[in-house]
Amino acid sequence: MQQQFTPRILRTIVPPHILSSIAERGTLQQRDRALKSLELDQYVRAARSRSIPLLQAQLPQTTVAKAVGPERSIYDAQQATDLPGSLIRHEGQTPITDKAGNEAYDGLGWTYSFYQQVYSRNSIDNKGLSLDASIHYDVSYNNAFWDGGQMVFGDGDGDTFNRFTIALEVIGHELTHGVTGSEANLDYNDQPGALNESISDVFGSLVKQFSLNQSADQADWLIGKGLFTDKVQGEALRSLKAPGTAYDDPILGKDPQPATMDGYVDMTDDNGGVHVNSGIPNHAFYLAAIAIGGRAWEKTGRIWYITLCDRALKSSANFSDFATLTVKHASALYGANSQEQQAIQKAWETVKVLKTSIGTIPTGGTDATTGIVTTTPGNTGSSNWPIPDDSEDNAPWQFPQDTPENLPQNLSEEPDESDAAD
Ligand SMILES: [Zn+2]
Repeated sequence: MQQQFTPRILRTIVPPHILSSIAERGTLQQRDRALKSLELDQYVRAARSRSIPLLQAQLPQTTVAKAVGPERSIYDAQQATDLPGSLIRHEGQTPITDKAGNEAYDGLGWTYSFYQQVYSRNSIDNKGLSLDASIHYDVSYNNAFWDGGQMVFGDGDGDTFNRFTIALEVIGHELTHGVTGSEANLDYNDQPGALNESISDVFGSLVKQFSLNQSADQADWLIGKGLFTDKVQGEALRSLKAPGTAYDDPILGKDPQPATMDGYVDMTDDNGGVHVNSGIPNHAFYLAAIAIGGRAWEKTGRIWYITLCDRALKSSANFSDFATLTVKHASALYGANSQEQQAIQKAWETVKVLKTSIGTIPTGGTDATTGIVTTTPGNTGSSNWPIPDDSEDNAPWQFPQDTPENLPQNLSEEPDESDAAD
């Protein structure tokens, strides 16, 4: 019998438009690295599709954990591109001398802990998938990615980018691609692709906020803070608070993200602008979280998570499909016309995904000319999202607090460039 293999698809954190901009405007050395990074991404994609059975056999196998808790393995690719490399730290082992190795280990732990404690999810696939990461991938590699089975981090060139383990939200972002893949499995192009990217940004930011115990108004809402060196004019790759303002640099170009549908970009590159138009649902989440207040993962994040797990969310869902479901789940969870439901409705209206319903009683349905969906806030409907399993076997796993290395104390600080290229 022929064995079936699922193709692995790379999800890189640095979008192609940044690398293309560097390739156009950078110094000779910067151009070489950017082109190499773009070529390598394409090469890995092609190699993956050619030799899936071999790679599948080589990669660490999925395990179903007996007890709830992460099963982490960190590998050192030793500046090569063979994955996963040699094992340098396994679950339960004490910190090692390699800073990036400890950051990867802690980042996987925080992401696991976030999903387990907040949403009772047992790892990426909710079946205890072991969490594997390789560091020191290639030489001066300016990216990090989830390949469908593990995380991979470059060291950065130390010129434009620092090491990619530096930002916890990047780890949360990449692993959330795995969560999305095992839930709605949103198509990776156009609006469903931008939703896919946005969900990774939202939960990536929430993992960081959770680790710092921040309320919505205390959070920085940035993705990739600390990734840029001091030479770059910019503070991060993206901003959920103010899409389009994360960077403006002579070499990297300007952050192209729109905050509302007025700025929606129709493009063919980047799978139809998945890293560009994600600014719109990103900003809707931010607006809703600020309006609802408190810790964003508790209410707004829960509504987003339940929507992601709702089987009614098709892989081809567009922004308004997703928005409509979030309003429905807000009603189901907190009540029709509750403050939560109204905040979410208003957020989607502000970014112009949902039609303004002020002064009218919405009846629901799609406007044939604009495609904009009106919603019925009072419709609580019946939810078919998975109810978190709160049984004894699924008791919250606590993030180990026993060693200083485990505490992401430096996350809110500026990166120390001196130790960036280790
Ligand atoms: Zn992504």
